[in-house]
Formats: sequence, C-alpha cells, structure tokens
Amino acid sequence: MSSRDTASPALDGAVIAIDGPSGSGKSSTARGVAVALGLRYLDTGAMYRAVTWAVLAAGADPDDPAAVAGLADRLDVQSGTDPQAPTIAVDGVDVSGEIRSPAVTNAVSAVSAVPAVRAQMVARQRELVGAGGIVVEGRDIGIAVTPEATLKVFLTAQVSARAQRRTAQVGGPSSAHQTTRDDLDRRDRLDSSRQASPLARADDAVDVDTTELSLPEVVDHIVALVRGAVQVRDGQVSR
Ligand code: C5P
Repeated sequence: MSSRDTASPALDGAVIAIDGPSGSGKSSTARGVAVALGLRYLDTGAMYRAVTWAVLAAGADPDDPAAVAGLADRLDVQSGTDPQAPTIAVDGVDVSGEIRSPAVTNAVSAVSAVPAVRAQMVARQRELVGAGGIVVEGRDIGIAVTPEATLKVFLTAQVSARAQRRTAQVGGPSSAHQTTRDDLDRRDRLDSSRQASPLARADDAVDVDTTELSLPEVVDHIVALVRGAVQVRDGQVSR
C-alpha cells in the first residue's frame, strides 16, 4: 500500500487503540486514520463475527458456551490488515460479506462473551499487532489487547446518531431506525456487562464524541492526536 503521504519512521512502531460502542464510527475512523498515516488496520469485531459465522454455519447454539468454545478452538481466523481492503477468512474461506448478516449481528455478543473465544482472539490480535505500525479497533483494545498502546481513543456518539448512521450504512428504510437503535442498545448492554473483558474505557484514553463531527473531521482530529503522542513518546516534547 502506498497511501502514506507523510512517511515517518517514528510511526512504524506506533499502536493506536480505538475502542467504543457499536455504531460510534470506529471502523470508518480507524481505517481513515490508518490510510492517512500509512499504518496497518485491524478490525477485531470482524474476528468475533467470523467465529460467530462459523458457529452458526456449524449449526451450533451460540448461547452454549461449551459448544462455542469447542468449535472456536479448531478455527483458523485470518485477518488481512490493509486498510484499503481489509479481509477476513475462516479456514481459508472469505467471509467478509457473511459476517455482516443480521443472524451474525444478533449472535455475536453471546459468542464474544465466551472466555475461551476471547483468549484465543486476543492472542491472535497481539500476534497481528506484532512490532506495531497499526490501528486496532474494538471494545477492549486499550485495556486488554494493547495496554501499552501509543495512543488510546474512546469514540462515542449519541445513540440516535449511531442508529442513524448504521441504518444509512446498511441501506435500510428510515422505519428501520428504531429497530437499529434497539439492536445497538442491546449489544452495548451485553458487551458492557459481560464478565470477560467488557467494553470499557481505559483510564488513559482520549474521549472523542463524534455526534456532531463529520468523518474527515474525526480522522483529522485523531491523526493530530497520534502525531502528538508519537512526539511525546520520542521525547520531542515533554508530557
Ligand atoms: O465492531 P463490531 O460491531 O463489528 O463488533 C461486533 C461484536 O464483536 C461486538 O458487538 C462485540 O460483541 C464483539 N467485540 C468484542 N471485542 C472486540 C470487538 C468486538 O467483544 N474487541
């Protein structure tokens, strides 16, 4: 990928953690930041969705933690980290489209709450982060996956704005707004209340509320935060 317009060796080891609830704009934001800075990109939600797809495809019950854990243990989930064309595959099968289905969206919070699934995914995510140079988005990145991240961002937006964006994203009619809003509420509740690494804001995260901001504004803001954090890390300015 040759999208880096401002190549900087200092960014090579950077790890940018972006967490937040469903529909806060994490994916578009994280991809935009990665493209702007020439970094790799990892969508950890896609990994949990891929496991959920495999559970459903196998006819297993997503609410049966033992069945889910047994199945997940045998899966090879592969994530491509090019922000211009992220990919996700399970045992060599591309599931990029399938993981966005309503069936997967309904079941993913139950599957991602299974501790064995989280342990496996977090280990895989850390492997992919490797030496850095990556933007990682999810729910537990700043706390559980990369607590040493160069910069942690917690993205939020009012739930009505999140529902509106999500409805527009999937091309649904405006009557779908309430259903989408209920779904976001339900997933936020499940993701925030589970035992194993719930959705949570790291103490040292920077809050960014995207309710009133356009995507380019959010991306520019975070790019500036990244540059500031890298300068602090490299001792060019003191904290
Ligand atoms: O980000 P996205 O909405 O695609 O994530 C789908 C689901 O995956 C979330 O609702 C959550 O249950 C789970 N998830 C998680 N931890 C992450 C990323 C996503 O539990 N780091």
